[in-house]
Amino acid sequence: MERQRTTGKLLATQGYVIGVEISGSGARQSVALADLNGNILYQARRSLEHVPDTETVLRLLDEMLAEVTAPERLCDGRILRTGVAVGGLVDASLGVVRTLRHAHGWDNFPLQDYLAERLDVPCIIDNNANAAALAEVQSGAASPAELEGGARRAERVVLYVGLGRGIGGGLVVNGKIYHGTTSTAGEIGHMQVKENGPECSCGGFGHLEALASAQAITRTMVDLSVEYPETEAAMRRVTGSQTERITAAQVFQLAAAGDAIAKRIVTDIHTYLGVALANIVYLIDPGIIILGGQVGQAGELLIAPLQERLNNLRPPTVGQPVRIVQSKHGAEANIVGAVTLALQDV
Ligand SMILES: [Zn+2]
Repeated sequence: MERQRTTGKLLATQGYVIGVEISGSGARQSVALADLNGNILYQARRSLEHVPDTETVLRLLDEMLAEVTAPERLCDGRILRTGVAVGGLVDASLGVVRTLRHAHGWDNFPLQDYLAERLDVPCIIDNNANAAALAEVQSGAASPAELEGGARRAERVVLYVGLGRGIGGGLVVNGKIYHGTTSTAGEIGHMQVKENGPECSCGGFGHLEALASAQAITRTMVDLSVEYPETEAAMRRVTGSQTERITAAQVFQLAAAGDAIAKRIVTDIHTYLGVALANIVYLIDPGIIILGGQVGQAGELLIAPLQERLNNLRPPTVGQPVRIVQSKHGAEANIVGAVTLALQDV
């Protein structure tokens, strides 16, 4: 039977927490040991080239957990909690993975109970964008330390957008993750931003994820470059001749350097991401929007044109326009998010 989670307050002053990261694509599986301030002390990683089924991932998790919880690492107490950031649909209140889109065997998998039993400590699971959002609020781009110095108070409404292989969003309101009615709030990758646009991983068309995810950007660049020798030559230069391994950030760099095809792709990203963010701003009125994931690594080349769009919304929003910033935790946002989840009182 599924029941609501209650882990109570974390009152200990000594001990450790564990963070677990599971990605839907297999690209990132990791387990981290952290102290009670959230500092990661040790991390094990197992990347997979293929799409993971439940058994494969659980076996890898077991291996990594054994490595991370080796007795010599636990000289300052015991493990108190586990937090898990999952790259799929999660019912956070029940601790159940609803689906992991590219993987088999995960539908309605009770991962929270499984890990709680395996480690004999309370476990908290959530979607990876939600976990990353919380990490950015507590120790990243929207943390009090980062916001100090400016005239701004701590942000009450923070949106994190993970622009990775897919696109996920996490919303933190007054310090808490906002889950919505069915735990799917923030699934902004499936907002339709282009009529008759390209097909999305979910089967829909013209969704943001099909236009602005790292996979969409690099795939479009590789496909188009076949017809444009100059672009292909530029790609070879930045990738060491492995053009198929070009990153989204490199596409932004080529656009900034004047490549016509890259510029076309980047203009499209700004258009469709701009449409999505403008619509979100009118609905939730965030103080700050944090861009993470591989596409987020493009930094100001991504952010500056989007910021300009949001500065010029018509009709204007009240007060200062929302600020767009780059994720501080970068590629580690999900695992730091998992650790942050473990340190929550729920
Ligand atoms: Zn979709």
